[in-house]
Parts: sequence; C-alpha cells; structure tokens
Amino acid sequence: MHAKQTGYHLSADDQKRLDDLFETILREQQRFVGYPCNALFDYHSLFKFLDHPINNVGDPYVASNFHLNTHAIEREVLGIFHELTHAVPEESWGYISSGGTEGNMYGIFLGRELFPDGMVYYSEDTHYSVNKILRCLHVRNIMIKSCPDGRIDLEDLRETIRIHRDLPPIIFANVGTTMRGAIDDLEGIRAILDDLAIHRAYIHVDAALGGMILPFVDDPQPWDFRAGIDSIAISGHKMVGSPLPCGIVLAKKVHVDRIARSIEYVGTLDTTILGSRNAITPLFMWYAFRTVGIEGFRRWIRQCFETADYAVARLNEIGRNAWRHRNSVTVVFDRPSPEMAHRWQLAAEHDIVHLITMPHVTTEQIDRLVDELVRRSPVTTTPKANA
Ligand SMILES: *Cc1c(COP(=O)(O)O)cnc(C)c1O
Repeated sequence: MHAKQTGYHLSADDQKRLDDLFETILREQQRFVGYPCNALFDYHSLFKFLDHPINNVGDPYVASNFHLNTHAIEREVLGIFHELTHAVPEESWGYISSGGTEGNMYGIFLGRELFPDGMVYYSEDTHYSVNKILRCLHVRNIMIKSCPDGRIDLEDLRETIRIHRDLPPIIFANVGTTMRGAIDDLEGIRAILDDLAIHRAYIHVDAALGGMILPFVDDPQPWDFRAGIDSIAISGHKMVGSPLPCGIVLAKKVHVDRIARSIEYVGTLDTTILGSRNAITPLFMWYAFRTVGIEGFRRWIRQCFETADYAVARLNEIGRNAWRHRNSVTVVFDRPSPEMAHRWQLAAEHDIVHLITMPHVTTEQIDRLVDELVRRSPVTTTPKANA
C-alpha cells in the first residue's frame, strides 16, 4: 500500500529488469564471505520514513531551519558510540557520516586545521582511500613500513618522526586494517612521541571494522579515547549492518570548534564535511542498538570469532596457511585461483586473500568454500613459473 499516489508506473520490461537484478543479488549473497558487511538486519518497520524528504543537514547538536530531520535519534546513536569509545561526554562531538572514508577525511581535516604544517604518518597497510584524502587535503605525508602481520612498523615510524621533529605529527592509526585486520600499537606510538619529547601531535584512528568489535571483547588492545586519541572513524554498514553506507565519526570538541562556521541559510553550524546528510541511516543504527543491543552484539562478536577459528582450522586442514589476529574476524589465507576468488568475492592482495566471518557467515558456508577450494583450486606443489 502506498501512502501517496504519484500516478507514475514502471513498464513491464523495466519491472523485469528490477526483478532480475534482485534475483542476482539474492544468489550472490549466498557466497558473500569476503567483505566486512553484516547482512543480518531487518529494518522493515522503518520503511515508512522513506516516503518523506528527511535530511539531517548540519550539526546534529544544533537546531536548524530544516525540521524534517532525525537529529534527536542521531544524537542518541552518537551517545552510544561516545560510551563505547570512552569519550568524555562534555568534551566530545561527532556525527553520522556517509562511511569510513568521510570519517577519515574528517579526522585528517581536523588534524591539519590544528597543525597546518603537520606531517601525516600512515602505514602501507592503510585503506586505499587515505592516499586520495591526503591529496584532497593537500597535506604533507609519509608512508611508513608495515610489519609482515600488517601493523605499523614502530622502528620506521620512530626514525621518520625523528628526522622531521620540527613538524607536528598527525598520526593515522589503524584499528583493524582492511586486508589483515591488524591493530596498530597505539601505546607504542604514544611512547615514541613521549620519547622524542613531541607535545604537539594529533592522533586519528581508523576503526572502520575494529571499532564495532573491540567494545565487545574482554581483552581489547588499546584503541579508543582512553588511549589518548583525538578522533576516530567507525563504519556503520560493516558490523552494525545497513543497506545504505554510513559511519560514525567522533572527535574532541576543541578541535571541531576550530572549524565550525555559522550558516544563516540553514540556520545551523557547518561542522560536517557534507551539507545534506542521510537521515535514514541514524534510524537504522538506532534500531540495531535498540533491538540487537549491546549484549546481542557481544554474542554476535563471540560467534564471529568461533566461525573465524573454524575457518582457520578447516583451511589449514587443506594446506592454505590460514591465520587471524587476536580480536579480529579477518581470516587471511593463500590466494586461490582467480575463479574461486571471484566466485566467493574474496578480496586479494599479492599472494593472500581474506574472508571475513561477519554475523551472517555460517560454518556451512565455510564447509562449502573449503570443498570447492579442494576441487577447483588444488594446492600446487610444483613451483609457479616466473612467480
Ligand atoms: C572499509 C574501510 C574503510 C572505508 O570505509 P568506506 O565506508 O568504504 O568509506 C576505511 N578503512 C578501513 C580500515 C576499512 O576497512
């Protein structure tokens, strides 16, 4: 039933195109194990909001002239994430972004506004979007070596910062790298700054996936505001789950106050990167936290680790050198044939691929994948020609 009739209808051909596309998506979802996007969500009871031109333009904490918004719900979601990241409530700010990339851009933007002559340091395992962000923001930057397990190489970081001691460091740290799920050693990074007597520094954390895992484990690596960070980006469409990409970005309020501009046209503060912002995604995330809840996410994460351990064991039974980091759901293993990587949407880099045991991934799927690997992509014992 439609609430309003526009008088327009799709032709039968066009309707068929949509139906076919939908079938393809259903079929492909059966082997959706390579990307960190949770498929377990049901937001049907929110669909009525899609009938209205809602928009969260501007600062979620400032009333605006655009009243069809979900700012109140957005602030509640931000409150949850302030708690999960141990931010000091009165000193923190944030908004719901379009995803990890926007959140990371925001963090580096704040860092650069604080230190216009700053130097950004980031590891070679950092998400591909950061290179583009650095070019957009036109900020000096140096890529640091990674350890073989994907964490930033602290020796290389120390040496590089030491050489550029006159420039305030803007550290871009990973909490769950895209390929290996590695968590950069934030205590080690802070120790380097202390050792070198550097007092002017900014630390942004990219916790796209890890930021929705570490709040729910018993033994988290240092990763949040307690570890002395200045801002953090977390994805919403990854572990929370959402058909519309989204993310959470949080920052210390003092940094945001430096960039805030009052705008008469919308009657609010222009503190966000985008102007018009999604008013649906805050509803999705709010709904997830009101239904699944903190305890539900804790159970999900535990179950994800169990599936990950199962995948590691099964893949090693068939000789694929599988492993994962502590508190990570990213299972790294030897790159199979291109056909198998494509069929199971396994993201590849050099000689490795990963699968990611999000809440919707089952041990039955892992079994099917393992069976197919044995049949279609056997381990070759002869050395690869010109590898
Ligand atoms: C997914 C991811 C991003 C980018 O997130 P988008 O929502 O795709 O913009 C950034 N960093 C890491 C580590 C990621 O895994």
